[in-house]
Amino acid sequence: MINLTGKVALITGASRGIGAATAIKFAEAGIRGLAINYNRDRNAAERVAASCERLGADTILIRADVSRVAAVEKMIDTTVTRFGSLDIVVANAGIWKEAAIEEMSEGEWDETIDANLKSIYACCHASARVMLPRRRGTMILISSTAGQRGEPFHSHYAATKGAIISMTKSLAAELGPRGITVNCVAPGWVATDMTAEALNSKTERRKIRELIPLGRVATPDEIAGPILFLASDLASHVNGEVLNVNGGSVLCG
Ligand code: NAP
Repeated sequence: MINLTGKVALITGASRGIGAATAIKFAEAGIRGLAINYNRDRNAAERVAASCERLGADTILIRADVSRVAAVEKMIDTTVTRFGSLDIVVANAGIWKEAAIEEMSEGEWDETIDANLKSIYACCHASARVMLPRRRGTMILISSTAGQRGEPFHSHYAATKGAIISMTKSLAAELGPRGITVNCVAPGWVATDMTAEALNSKTERRKIRELIPLGRVATPDEIAGPILFLASDLASHVNGEVLNVNGGSVLCG
């Protein structure tokens, strides 16, 4: 039922985890053109691209550090040159590093703010310039429960994810009248490389599961499904929404 036929999408951080699962879902839904962004892990990105190609999607791989605005602008240019348009942007790339506030250096603060938040500015800025003249497009920004309830020892991370929620609402109101929707997905715990260390410990895993009403951590596929919904025409009247995908662990609108 969900059909992305004819559409072109760019997914940042699509070499692994949630981004990779989203790329596969988009390919399964018949997407025409797919730009798969990665930063360090070219081999993983190539594997994702090969799976998408097998599913029939025309795919390009783009290496770009999303914390660099010029690199993001070039990536969006490359996508549009290759496919002739850009309908869907999923700003997913991010990092999650632990740091107590009294120990956190300026460099650590900047690294997280740039990778998780400046990247959102860069993606929205550059894709708006492509989408606005066509008065068509959708942006999906990936936040986190950390942006809703905070997260001890990850205050820089939580600050970026809270800011993504307020950017979603601001841009939905700003761009909606000009034909572009902006929504946000806020996952809870998801089993990816990002959380592998935390989820490796049996005790930690039990503690985490106890806080989730569904009693388990999500798979990347379970986040990619809601992202696919927001990317599709089924969500054409959804704008400025924060879609919580957390097994009920944070109950907020
Ligand atoms: P992951 O498995 O660690 O994958 C991170 C992805 O982001 C990789 O593809 C990585 O590319 C890319 N990336 C990181 N820094 C980048 C940069 N500067 N430029 C370009 N790409 C970059 O992470 P994940 O768990 O899938 O997380 C994806 C998103 O969901 C993140 O925004 C994260 O904050 C959010 N999230 C995750 C969870 C969770 O429990 N996992 C919960 C809530 C929210 P390379 O491998 O090529 O470097």
